[in-house]
Amino acid sequence: MSCDFLALAQPGVQKLSPYVPGKPVDELARELDLDPASIVKLASNENPLGPSPKALEAIRNELAELTRYPDGNGFELKRRLAERCGVTSAQVTLGNGSNDILDLVARAYLAPGLNAVFSEYAFAVYPIATQAVGAQGKVVPAKDWGHDLPAMLAAIDANTRVVFIANPNNPTGTWFGPAALEDFLARVPENVLVVLDEAYIEYAEGDDLPDGLRYLARYPNLLVSRTFSKAYGLAALRVGYGISTAQVADVLNRVRQPFNVNSLALAAACAALDDADYLVESRRINDAGMAQLEEGFRALGLSWIPSRGNFIAVDFGRDAAPINQAMLREGVILRPVAGYGMPNFLRVSIGLQAENARCLAALAKVLDRA
Ligand SMILES: *Cc1c(COP(=O)(O)O)cnc(C)c1O
Repeated sequence: MSCDFLALAQPGVQKLSPYVPGKPVDELARELDLDPASIVKLASNENPLGPSPKALEAIRNELAELTRYPDGNGFELKRRLAERCGVTSAQVTLGNGSNDILDLVARAYLAPGLNAVFSEYAFAVYPIATQAVGAQGKVVPAKDWGHDLPAMLAAIDANTRVVFIANPNNPTGTWFGPAALEDFLARVPENVLVVLDEAYIEYAEGDDLPDGLRYLARYPNLLVSRTFSKAYGLAALRVGYGISTAQVADVLNRVRQPFNVNSLALAAACAALDDADYLVESRRINDAGMAQLEEGFRALGLSWIPSRGNFIAVDFGRDAAPINQAMLREGVILRPVAGYGMPNFLRVSIGLQAENARCLAALAKVLDRA
């Protein structure tokens, strides 16, 4: 009889379910024999604009160097990010996507017997990173779908080393303001690392949303993580970053894979940072698309969770799985969030005007039938 290698996996891993990504366009095209060009994918919070021309040019210029390892220290990108963020290069950690940063934190600071605190309906990677290293995830019930920061404070115990908070949060789109963050940071024990995940901050900045970087100088236990996957439109390249004290960055650097960010990603990210117009356009399209979808949902009698991300969670008031299936048959890929404990919702990423219109038309048809 062969060994049960599931039973041999460490207990935290045995209890994990794999991350479920949005359905790829080509997969649905194969399954339903559809033309991929006819499919609208609004399932992975991707930037609908297409990549920045400046990023594409930087990638082309880098191609001749593919035989070489990338700059393992990411010198140029770190320098630019440091300048942008008002910190030193020593405070910057580059990641293979910001998911990599979350993983580095877990590997450096969590272990069996220790725990990480995060919210109900929080990003699926927090439990994966936590349980992968044998630590316990302490899930704090959400309040109005968002983070209940006082309850998260109360959940911190002597074995807590990390708190993961996302602002805005995915998949709910909920956010908290500067006063709530300030109050939270002032009360978190100083030996607990607060990972403030700002994957959507470029869409969300404004008076009612804090810029995590502003708190770094006062709270040495804060790490802000950001990404090039969303507003910068480089999801496929996998590049994100963490900003923290130089000491925390040094610790993360010790467990980092030596060449975790590839050379095309490094070059494209540098170029993307310089493309201010692209970012403005990303945000404009997002604001317009959000308004378009909200208006369409209202007309369909649907409610939703107000969102400051590039996506919106729609409430169908009943099991959304059959609606999702019917939408797939219409060639529209949305994201089921039952795995997050939200079976009545689908998450819709904001697309281009025509994509949002396709989504709303398909929804009208599907809901009419169902
Ligand atoms: C999309 C997302 C990320 C970014 O992931 P990458 O690895 O940078 O592509 C991080 N956190 C949250 C909450 C997200 O939704």
